[in-house]
Order: sequence, then structure tokens, then C-alpha cells
Amino acid sequence: MQTSSTPSANKPPASDGHGATTPYGRDFLEAVPKTDLHLHLDGSLRLETLIELARGRGIKLPSETPEGLLELVFKESYRDLPDYLHGFAYTSPVLCDEEALERVAYELAVDNLAEGVRYIEVRFAPQLHVREGFEVAQVLTAVDKGLDRARREHEASPAVRERGEPPFRYGIITCAMRLFTAGFAPYYEQLLGALGQWPSKEVYGIASMSLARSVIEARDDLGLPVVAFDLAGAEAGNPPSDHVDAFTFAHRNFLKKTVHAGEAYGPESIFQAITLLNADRIGHGTRLFDAAGVKAEAPERYVRQLSEYIADRRITIEVCVTSNMQTMPHLRRVEDHPLGRMLRDRLSVTVCTDNRLVSRTTVTDELAKATDAFDIPPQELRNVVIHGFKRSFFAGGYREKRAYVRQVIDYYDQVAAEHGVAPQAPSRGQELGPASAESPSS
Ligand SMILES: [Zn+2]
Repeated sequence: MQTSSTPSANKPPASDGHGATTPYGRDFLEAVPKTDLHLHLDGSLRLETLIELARGRGIKLPSETPEGLLELVFKESYRDLPDYLHGFAYTSPVLCDEEALERVAYELAVDNLAEGVRYIEVRFAPQLHVREGFEVAQVLTAVDKGLDRARREHEASPAVRERGEPPFRYGIITCAMRLFTAGFAPYYEQLLGALGQWPSKEVYGIASMSLARSVIEARDDLGLPVVAFDLAGAEAGNPPSDHVDAFTFAHRNFLKKTVHAGEAYGPESIFQAITLLNADRIGHGTRLFDAAGVKAEAPERYVRQLSEYIADRRITIEVCVTSNMQTMPHLRRVEDHPLGRMLRDRLSVTVCTDNRLVSRTTVTDELAKATDAFDIPPQELRNVVIHGFKRSFFAGGYREKRAYVRQVIDYYDQVAAEHGVAPQAPSRGQELGPASAESPSS
């Protein structure tokens, strides 16, 4: 293993995470094939693109320069969650037409490819981007077009054609909002206007249900790679129970489910995501072990049983360390993050960015921070990285997914051998190295 604290030359400037040291060396972490399963489109724009798009659409930004925006909006640290979310008030409105969405999706895929990420699931709330004459299906089509352009370009590159690197694959996750106001977007303004007398929680449920119908139609009729349904937005005070109809509809139509939970509320929110919304994965899950505040009779036992259930059912936690550090002041050091305990307890975890711009991070940065703070031996690092591919909501068929994961594992082992990152001594019955008999699905 090599030690390096030198960020590579093509990294964006002035990011706290970029250049995070790691015992593995950043070169190795960049070279291995990686995933990002929790990645918000509207939190991951390039700054220059945001400025250009805002200018072309008459949207006023607090600064016209990348440096100014980094100082005022997309900061290294935030006071609290509302401060963190402030940036979305600028990024979301610029994504209001096909050209903007296609471009931002394309650039997001290109930026991921540049740091060795080979599979992403891009999430966003389509209803935030809907305008008169620009409906949910068109929003999804525009994003798919951008991602597919990057995929095709990468597929035609010598890396894939001649050197056998794994191709780029992606899926789209659509987010329903736990809560919205008229100021969020024209769609919500109209809906709240039309249903002004209704209890707001019912209006949230109607919006979710409408979205579930639209995205399943887009998947089935247009063949768009919509792979999952998500619930995002203010967690405390806005329980999953408002969205049961939409998630049940998604479940019955074989759309997978991931739910933001355990970020701003405790273990009970995670429990509801799993039991009421049939979540296959959990976004964040950071408060999974927080027994304090649990209303159950025996909070410690409740937390233990819940985390055992999650581990046993292989419900994957999409861990976003930097984002959590920025919104949860009690996490002072990376070592305070529950990722360490999640790994010790053998939970199914995958390391994600959440928002590349708002959190000023990359997948490589996240892996660097995790491997620097926690004792993650080579075999375990390999498991975590490969796990992202295995637990993805792959858009193709299951046999195709297995073949893809197999290709990724072989390539990972090849990169590890080239970098001298030897796996640990194998456990009984397991082969070493690239010829490993490991199943691509386990
Ligand atoms: Zn998120």
C-alpha cells in the first residue's frame, strides 16, 4: 500500500474533502470501479454550469463567480440542515427545461467517470422541474438523455473497447417530497392552490401518488430506466405514513424503494420506512443506533432488534459521511460517525456522496475519509465497494446484472494487484485473487 496526500491534478479547487488522506493512497481509490447509489442531481452541478444556466434563465445568484458561490452558498461547513439546503433554492430552479437537465445529467456522469465511478443512481424530484408543457415524462427523458450520452461516449473509449474496463451503467431514482410549499415549484403551487382546503398531509400524499403513477408509466411505456422511488425532504414531523399509498403502488409495480430516514429523526423513522414503505435501502440511516428519544418500552432492545433485522434482511444503508458531518453538529470527527459500528455489526452499507456540489465531495473523497478514520482492511474495502454494485437497483435483467458485477469484481482485483493492495489471507474455502469463486450476487 502506498500513502499519498496529493490530490490529483484534475480535481475541482478549494474543496475540504479533496485530498483527504487515506492509507490506501488516492490513486488506488480512484482506479477501482466504484458506485454512487445516493446522489442528488440538483445537489451535484458544476459551479460554472450553474452560473451559465442561471444567466440564461434570468435567475439571480448571490454571486456570479465560483469563488463567491463557494464562500456564500456551497460552503465547507453549514450551521444546520436549513443552511445546507439553502443552495437548492438556486440549483433547482435552473433545471427547468430539457437543455439544462440533459446537460447537468451528462456532466454529472462525466465527472463520476473521471474518478472511476462506473455505476450511479441519480435521484431528483421530477415535480420540482415540471413546467407548463414540460411534464414528468419529459423531465425523466431529458435526464436519461444526458446520462446515456456519457454512457455511449465512455463505451466507445479505448478504456472499454481495448482495455476491458467495465462499462458505465446508471439508473434513475425519483423522489417524492415529504413536505412542500407553494414556493418550491410551480407544480406544487398549482396543486396547493387547487386543494387549498385540504389538510396539507393529504396533499403531500396525492403528489406522491401522482408521481408514482407517472414514473411507472414512463418506465413501462417509454422504457426509461426509472429503478426506484424515494422519499426526501424534511423528515421530522412528516412521517412516512402520509405516503403509504404511493409506496404501495410502487411496490405492487415492482419499482424498488429507498427512503431518506434516520437523518433528522431517530430509529423509529427507519422502522417506518421499512415496515410501512417496504424500503429496500435506507438513505443515511445515521441515527440508527440512537436509542435516546425512542418511545418504545425498552429503547436499547428496540435499536438492537431493528439493526439486527436490517443486517439480516440485507437492507442496505446508503452512508453519506461528509453530508452527515455538515448537517449533524454532534458528529465532530469522522470517527464519531456510526459507519464504524455499522461495519463492525456487518450491516450492508454502501458509501455515497449525497451531493457532490453542496457537500463539496466525490466518491473517492468519501472512501478516503472512511478508510482514514476506520480500520477497513483490503478485503473489507473490496466488499464495501463491490457491494454498491450488488445492491444497486440495476435497470437491466438479473442475468445481465450478474455478468456486469462479475466483470467489475475481476477488474477490481486486477487494479488491486497492479497497486499491490493484496487481499487478506482468505478464509477457509475461499480462493485468493482474481480467480476468486465469489458469487456476483452474494
Ligand atoms: Zn439525500
